[in-house]
Amino acid sequence: MATSLYGASEAQDVICVFLEREGDTLQRVSLELLSKGRELADEVGWKLAGLLLGYYRMLPLMGQAFEVGADEIWVAEHPLLKTFTVEAYTSAAFQVIMNRKPSIFLCGATPNGRDLAGRLAVKLRTGLTADCTDLRMREGGILVGEVTGFGGGVLALIKTPQHRPQMATVRPGVFPLKPPRTERVSRAVEIISVTLDEAQVRTRVVEQVVGRGADITQSPVVVVGGRGIQGRFDLLRQLAELLGGEVGATRPPVDSGQIERERQVGQTGVVCRPKVAIVCGASGAFQFTVGIQHADTVIAINTDPEAPIFETADYGVVGDALQIVPALIEALRNSRVAVTSG
Ligand SMILES: Cc1cc2nc3c(=O)[nH]c(=O)nc-3n(C[C@H](O)[C@H](O)[C@H](O)COP(=O)(O)OP(=O)(O)OC[C@H]3O[C@@H](n4cnc5c(N)ncnc54)[C@H](O)[C@@H]3O)c2cc1C
Repeated sequence: MATSLYGASEAQDVICVFLEREGDTLQRVSLELLSKGRELADEVGWKLAGLLLGYYRMLPLMGQAFEVGADEIWVAEHPLLKTFTVEAYTSAAFQVIMNRKPSIFLCGATPNGRDLAGRLAVKLRTGLTADCTDLRMREGGILVGEVTGFGGGVLALIKTPQHRPQMATVRPGVFPLKPPRTERVSRAVEIISVTLDEAQVRTRVVEQVVGRGADITQSPVVVVGGRGIQGRFDLLRQLAELLGGEVGATRPPVDSGQIERERQVGQTGVVCRPKVAIVCGASGAFQFTVGIQHADTVIAINTDPEAPIFETADYGVVGDALQIVPALIEALRNSRVAVTSG
């Protein structure tokens, strides 16, 4: 592989996190990465920086990043950075990175984050470990990204020993969000000027429509339906509603159009961190269970006592979910009536 544009000897002892915005707030995955970045930076005594690109109302975003642990924010402001376009953002991020030379650069594995990270890695001629399920620091400031491969059969630990920055993307929900810092610490904002040429930005943002799809990653209760529930997501919705939760699904019902894709849990879906996950009619394939491995409690309902899901579950019910879920709904409704009338 070609040498990177700067090497380990020139790299600064800084972990930099790309701060992705969503209107007037930072995307949760950016805050999760700052939380993890803080932990990693503290291990080796490095600084944690946030990279913020944009054109307006940047101050509140900086506040959020400082609260979660950033020591400094590198800001590049330009009219062409008002909304995300991969050409402008790659060029600006590249210029800032070449100016500050961080040892590590982390990005959320969101659609824009993935687009940006891939192009940046090529431009910087460095390595990118995509979709990490964990990040660790080794001696000498070597970042190790944990990645699953071959359908979960292989757990690979990937490092980039020579090239800088060491780059990784991580999906939303993989790292917990740490509580805001209360101690007084020094906070620095550095404005870095970037040169952008409109002619190089081929993407024109005509309109921005914010999708209001479900975000099951933040729900305290997730009721997941697998192939075994035979499309009866109406039942799971009722149960989820009674428990104040959301409905999730394994891949087969999503692929067959029974439920929206943003509700798919697992390797190619989302990672949830609910207090309780109730998994109905799912066998427990590894590609699915990685999406609920951070749940506090997993309850599984499956007709097959040998189903692998029972190895992951804290509580298991061997039985027909299509009978058990309606019974649960009825019991909950009755208990609510009893509570309100009592
Ligand atoms: C690269 C790759 C990525 C993938 N990513 C994902 C992913 O992100 N998420 C995901 O979910 N999958 C993913 N998959 C697919 C995954 O390997 C499994 O095929 C999938 O999770 C199986 O879904 P399931 O458990 O719903 O179906 P099945 O494996 O068919 O299991 C159905 C289960 O329902 C039980 N059952 C049947 N009837 C009832 C009933 N009435 N009541 C209770 N139980 C009943 C059966 O005993 C069985 O255990 C991926 C696969 C690959 C190769």
